[in-house]
Amino acid sequence: MIHRYVAILALLPLMGNAYAAGSTPQALLLAQDAVIVDTHIDAPTELVAEWQDLGALTPSREFDYPRAREGGLDVAFMSIYTSPDEDRLGTARQIANLQIDAVEAMAGRHPDKFALLTSPRDVERLRAGKHVLLALGMENGAPLGDDLAQLAKFHARGVRYITLAHSASNRISDSSYDRNHQWQGLSPFGKQVIAEMNRLGIMVDVSHLSDAATLQAVQLSRVPVIASHSGLRHFTPGFERNLSDELAKAIAAKGGVVQLTFGIGFVNRQAADDLQAKFTARAAFDARNAEATQAGKPLEDAAAFEKEWQRTHPIPETPITAVLDQIDYAVKLIGIDHVGLGSDFDGVSGNLPEGLRNVADYPNLVAGLQARGYKDDDLRKILGTNLLRVWAAVEAGSEHPQR
Ligand SMILES: [Zn+2]
Repeated sequence: MIHRYVAILALLPLMGNAYAAGSTPQALLLAQDAVIVDTHIDAPTELVAEWQDLGALTPSREFDYPRAREGGLDVAFMSIYTSPDEDRLGTARQIANLQIDAVEAMAGRHPDKFALLTSPRDVERLRAGKHVLLALGMENGAPLGDDLAQLAKFHARGVRYITLAHSASNRISDSSYDRNHQWQGLSPFGKQVIAEMNRLGIMVDVSHLSDAATLQAVQLSRVPVIASHSGLRHFTPGFERNLSDELAKAIAAKGGVVQLTFGIGFVNRQAADDLQAKFTARAAFDARNAEATQAGKPLEDAAAFEKEWQRTHPIPETPITAVLDQIDYAVKLIGIDHVGLGSDFDGVSGNLPEGLRNVADYPNLVAGLQARGYKDDDLRKILGTNLLRVWAAVEAGSEHPQR
């Protein structure tokens, strides 16, 4: 939109250090003008755990309204996340609903700043009012329980994608982090879930899934699927949480989009190796304690284990080029129409690359890609329109595409 260009040009002399961290005036312009969609921001979990007013600058968090505007973020998918523990305890559905309440309250408190977004058709109209648009993505299908009817209920509450599983195999699907691949992919219930998601117009998200589950989901879905926040295994060999070349290609061949994530654990090989080693060490620790329990012997201290692990495995410093390299590789592998962004802000304990630490930083990414020769029209696709295209296709493929 041209009037935003003009407005930002007028502001440039006042912006001072805004682009000192690696951005440029051209990058700031494009970040403001393009539709930026980020498909994974963990603000709701944080809101419920320790409430903050995200309409105001909140330096202890990675998402808030002032910095979203500064970074040009238009559509922020709020992650409605529940853990395998909450699934086991039967609290996942309640927690998910409370997180949705928290997002609604945030939008309701600041109707001048935030607007809830449930359809890609509303993006242009709503962003014209300087709103940051809040869409809902559910991370982990645990809140569904074994009840297919929950899908329509969460759809009615605004949920527009579901990551079928998180860090453990659940009723729907196997997880990449879980050595127990109980379903060899999707469960029979999981296959019904995908059909119902297609019918309702909820995007299927394959991030976190095992390889077999990812491939089955891509094949089974009638419409394109997304990976809402994944890295590429090319850079982190053996790390199943990141997509193999073959799976990235399969998602693209179906018309879908791979939303690349920023967390150091996903884009830095050492960090990914450490994470996998930790899973192994922690499994051994748990097994020793299970044996000790059986034998009536004293248990090892879990907090001490975690502390020692962190001391001996510091998070490696990682430059923004690690993310730029992933984008470059993905564009060459699967094409410019199938790559997007899913930061995982507020979801990786601050373990983010230099220059890509919160929602004010998208211009740094834009500047890095412009320096590598990306044209603005191609950058617009990566920044947001690819995801909006897939969302529109999923909506069009649903049973009630007309509202
Ligand atoms: Zn995640």
